[in-house]
Amino acid sequence: MPRTRAIKLRCPICKKATKATDADFPFCSDRCRLIDLGKWASGAYVISSPVDDADESVRQDILDDEDGD
Ligand SMILES: [Zn+2]
Repeated sequence: MPRTRAIKLRCPICKKATKATDADFPFCSDRCRLIDLGKWASGAYVISSPVDDADESVRQDILDDEDGD
């Protein structure tokens, strides 16, 4: 199975085309890499998904209802 399809890689910061062989990959430059680092440090990438146990029990209730008489 030949893999000849070229995947376009872009800098996640400035969307400039990058190469996997670049020293700063996946960023186009050291500058963009530092910007990304700053984003992580400032919490811009923090994913807020509260885990609620109650949600699981609600779903269980729905299943029980379908199973019932
Ligand atoms: Zn860039």
